[in-house]
Amino acid sequence: MTSGGRPHYMCRVMQPSMPSREQRPNLVGLGRAALAAELAAVGAEPFRARQLWHWIYHRGATDFALMTSLSKTFREALAAHYALSRPAVSQALTSIDGTRKLLLRFADGQEVETVYIPEEERGTLCVSSQVGCTLSCTFCHTGTQRLVRNLTAAEIVAQVMIARDDLGEWPPAAQPERQVTNIVLMGMGEPLFNYDNVAEALKIVMDPEGLALSRRKITLSTAGVVPAIRLAACGPRRHPRPAGPAQPQIPYCRIARRLPQLSRCQQRAAHYLRIRDAERYQ
Ligand code: SF4
Repeated sequence: MTSGGRPHYMCRVMQPSMPSREQRPNLVGLGRAALAAELAAVGAEPFRARQLWHWIYHRGATDFALMTSLSKTFREALAAHYALSRPAVSQALTSIDGTRKLLLRFADGQEVETVYIPEEERGTLCVSSQVGCTLSCTFCHTGTQRLVRNLTAAEIVAQVMIARDDLGEWPPAAQPERQVTNIVLMGMGEPLFNYDNVAEALKIVMDPEGLALSRRKITLSTAGVVPAIRLAACGPRRHPRPAGPAQPQIPYCRIARRLPQLSRCQQRAAHYLRIRDAERYQ
């Protein structure tokens, strides 16, 4: 770990070509492997990734200086190379029933909505997966917008983190009962057309040492992307990815209204549930 009595990460800190504030990679939204790789790049020991994970995803830290279990030198090294940033909240509206709608703006100027719906027994966060949508469900305003891009896993995770910021839900100030108890992927976009990023984001959200949302409290809604339902049930290792582009270039024509497709969708959904039940009782 040390070279001439100095930690390796100090060597990088002392390099003249430190990234500017805007160029610093953001650690918020990285999965465990990516976070470990970033820290290895600055010469930090492997256990540091677990410490950072705790501060980012369990405590919701937005400033390295607050990570008091890390040495001051290491905190300074992190701050010199990395950011802990969230998207900006460009608008926040609260309805009379307490529903709170947040409009989030990402670094490239694109915006999505995240909605928190409080109920007596639970609090549900409706999360977006794309900017715009390729589908055109007749009841949906997003369906009138063109698809701009998929959200990254980090941008999907950030919606959960911003909601917890907004509700003041991070420990130690958090109320005894959690406020964001459930997540539904029913915001902007078709989540199964952004399968990889959604799957990576949910892995982060479900991690028991971080945001710790139970899989049973997360609902993914689809308009009927049949091949991806099987992929979600079995995972890419147990079932090959369907052939073809990950993101269709032509608009899908109202999948949910095509009955043959719907029947296959129901079969796949039943298949998904059988696999999940089998896993539960293993
Ligand atoms: S898939 Fe979802 S976001 Fe897209 S148009 Fe249909 S309801 Fe709207």
